[in-house]
This record gives sequence, C-alpha cells and structure tokens, in this order.
Amino acid sequence: MVKDIIRGIIESNSTFVSACGEAYFKPHMAAQHPRITLVACCDSRVQPVVIEPDPIDKVFTIETIGNQMASAQGSVDYGVLHLHTPVLLIMGHTDCGAIKAFMKGYEKENDAIKGELDNLKASLPAPGGGSFDEELMRNIQANVMSQVGAALKRYRSLVDEGKLTVVGAVYDFTNALCKGFGRVVIVNVNGVAGKDRLRALPELQGLDPDTCLGV
Ligand SMILES: [Zn+2]
Repeated sequence: MVKDIIRGIIESNSTFVSACGEAYFKPHMAAQHPRITLVACCDSRVQPVVIEPDPIDKVFTIETIGNQMASAQGSVDYGVLHLHTPVLLIMGHTDCGAIKAFMKGYEKENDAIKGELDNLKASLPAPGGGSFDEELMRNIQANVMSQVGAALKRYRSLVDEGKLTVVGAVYDFTNALCKGFGRVVIVNVNGVAGKDRLRALPELQGLDPDTCLGV
C-alpha cells in the first residue's frame, strides 16, 4: 500500500515534469508572485485548485485546521506583509471537522491539536439552538467572519491604503448553501457582510450575486 502511494507520488510528478518543461518554471525560478494569500483548512477535500486551476506562483497557501490564522500567523504575515498579495482570502468550508470537533468536545486530543482548536474559541458564538447541522453551518460562517475581523485589525493600515482586500468565503462542497456543489460563496469583504451590502461593492461588480454571495 505504502509502496503504491510512493510510486503514485513519483509517477504523478513525472507526468507533471513532462507536461511543464523549463519554460513553465522560468518566470518563477527566482521569485514568487502570488496575488492571493489563502488561509484555508487542511481538510483534504479543500485545495487551492477550487479557486485557481494552476495555483503555482499565484496562491500563497496557508492551511490550518479550522482555517484560522492564529496557528500560523507568521506564515499569513509573510504572504501579506512581504509578498504583498492584494487579496487575503480566508476560506472556510462545509462539513469542517475542526469546527465539529470544537462543538463535540476535544479534551481527549493531544496538546498540539488542543492548542490549535483552542484558537477557535474566540471565533465561535455560544450554542444558538437548532440542529447540529444548522449550528455547524452558523459556526463555519462565524469563524470566517471572525478571522476576517482579526485580519482587518492586524492589517488595518494596508486595507485603509487600498493595498489589501480581505475576503471571507465558504467553500461549499456539500451544497449546504444550495448554490451548487463546490461553489465558493463570498460572505465578507473588508468587514462588509450581508448579500445586499456585498452586491453593492465595486470589487464585486459583474459577479452573479445569486451564485457567489451569501448570508
Ligand atoms: Zn476543516
């Protein structure tokens, strides 16, 4: 099994090497030029390809359990402050195991996992009733909103100068938001939330609000 997995790694890479060639790598051999700093969840069902077919040299990716910045703040700072990506995208997702773990209790986890899940404490509201799935969805969105808020605080001057736009979104591979399986739904831009307020933003003109804006 492991042998097959390792063989798969090398074979897939060989395919990649054959498909690319030197010309593909030349523009980014000496430096990287990402335009998005992405904070997403480690969940294997969530990958940068859902927002960019070829993320190489385009997406500076930070993945933490529960797509929260606190576990990897230095890495997020690197993308925003050193690589100067114009967009910081914080992307939560449906069926997030980290949020579920937080809701169910995670006392039995080891200290490292506990420490990272503890970072979600500040982001999640008190239980608000409804079914587990309803509360899960509320928490997933609340976490994104909270992470956007923290980012706006941390990078306030860049946002005020128009050099950084902080976008919060939910990647919905279960179609919980009924906009299509796999849809990325924007829920916050620089602290502006709510479908009607979002649709008025100049940054979002030309997008179909019914498919890509939410909450
Ligand atoms: Zn997750």
